[in-house]
Amino acid sequence: MPEPQLEIQHFTKNWQQQLAEAFNNIEDLCRYLQLSPDDLPVSVAASETFALRVPLSFADSMEKGNPHDPLLRQVLPIKEELLAYPGFNHDPVGDLAAATQTGVLHKYHGRVLFINTGSCAINCRYCFRRNFPYADLQLSKQKEEAAVQYIQADDSISEVILSGGDPLLLSDARLSRLIQQLNAIKHLKRIRIHSRLPIVLPARITGELINTLTESPKQIVIVVHCNHANEISDRVIAACNLLKTSGITVFNQSVLLKGINDNAKVLCELSERLFSHGIIPYYLHLLDKATGTGHFEVSEQQALILIRQVQATLPGYLVPKLVKEQAGATSKLSIL
Ligand SMILES: *Cc1c(COP(=O)(O)O)cnc(C)c1O
Ligand code: SF4
Repeated sequence: MPEPQLEIQHFTKNWQQQLAEAFNNIEDLCRYLQLSPDDLPVSVAASETFALRVPLSFADSMEKGNPHDPLLRQVLPIKEELLAYPGFNHDPVGDLAAATQTGVLHKYHGRVLFINTGSCAINCRYCFRRNFPYADLQLSKQKEEAAVQYIQADDSISEVILSGGDPLLLSDARLSRLIQQLNAIKHLKRIRIHSRLPIVLPARITGELINTLTESPKQIVIVVHCNHANEISDRVIAACNLLKTSGITVFNQSVLLKGINDNAKVLCELSERLFSHGIIPYYLHLLDKATGTGHFEVSEQQALILIRQVQATLPGYLVPKLVKEQAGATSKLSIL
C-alpha cells in the first residue's frame, strides 16, 4: 500500500471504504512502515488466532522504520502472544461474553452496558475480545427490542452505555433507530458511547452521526479509547472537535500497557494532549488477564508508582483514575 498520493485519496473515501481497506496482514503493514517482518518478532500463528486489523488512519500515525513504535506494538501479532502466563485465562471478564446473547449487562447501579455488535475497526492485541469468536455478532432486531424493553421496565437505570465491540460500527440508520428508541425512555438521563473509532477511524464521525446524537434529548457522553499521545493525529483532533462543538462530553480511557505507556512521562503527555483538545482523562485500566496478553502486563505495584508520579506532575483533573475490573464488585475498583 500506499504512495503518498494514494494515501490522500484513501482519506477522502467514506469510513466504510476506509474500513474495508484496512491492513489485514503482517507483510502489507510492514512494507508500509518500511520494516522487514524478519527484523520483528512477528507470528503468523498469533495472527491466525486473532487477525491483524489496522485502518490506515491509525497506521499513518506510526513512525516509519521504528520496530518499537508504541502504536505498532498495540496491533502487531507477535510470538509472545503464544506464551502461557499464570493467572491469564480465556475469559477474564466472563459475563461480558455471555451478555452478547441478550445484549444487556446490568452489573452496576443505574447504568447498563448495551452490546449490539462484536465488531471492531482495529484488533488490539491486548484485548480480552481476542479469545471470542463473536466478531461478526450483530444483535437481531428482536433481541434489540427485548433489551430496550428491559431498560424501559427498570426506572433505576439512568444511563445506557453502548459498548461492544465498537457501537459506532453500526450503520447510521441502525444507530439512529436505536437512539430513537432510547430517547423515548423517560427515566433515561444519559446515553454513553464507548468507542475507539474517533481515534482509529475518525472518518466515522460523519455529519449524519452528529445529527443523530445532537437530536437526542438525552445528554450524550462519548468515551474514546486512546493509549498514547501519538494516536492523536490532526484527523483525530478534527473528529473530536466536531463532537465537542456539538455539545458532547468526551472522556478518554486507556489501558496500562508494558512497553507502550508504562512510563510517567508518556502518561503525562497523553493527558496533556487529550485535554488540549477538550478530552478529559477518565480511566487508566489495568490489563484484563486474557490469554495471549501476558507480555503487556504492568504489575499493580508498578502501576501505583506510575500514577503517583503522574499525580505529582499534573493537576488533579488530568490524572486518570487507576482502576481494575473485579468480578462481583459494584463498580470498577479504584487502585489509588
Ligand atoms: C465498566 C462498566 C460500566 C461503566 O462503569 P463506569 O464506572 O460508570 O464507567 C458499566 N457496566 C459494566 C458492566 C461495566 O463493565
Ligand atoms: S474492544 Fe476496544 S480494545 Fe478491544 S479490540 Fe475492539 S477497539 Fe480494541
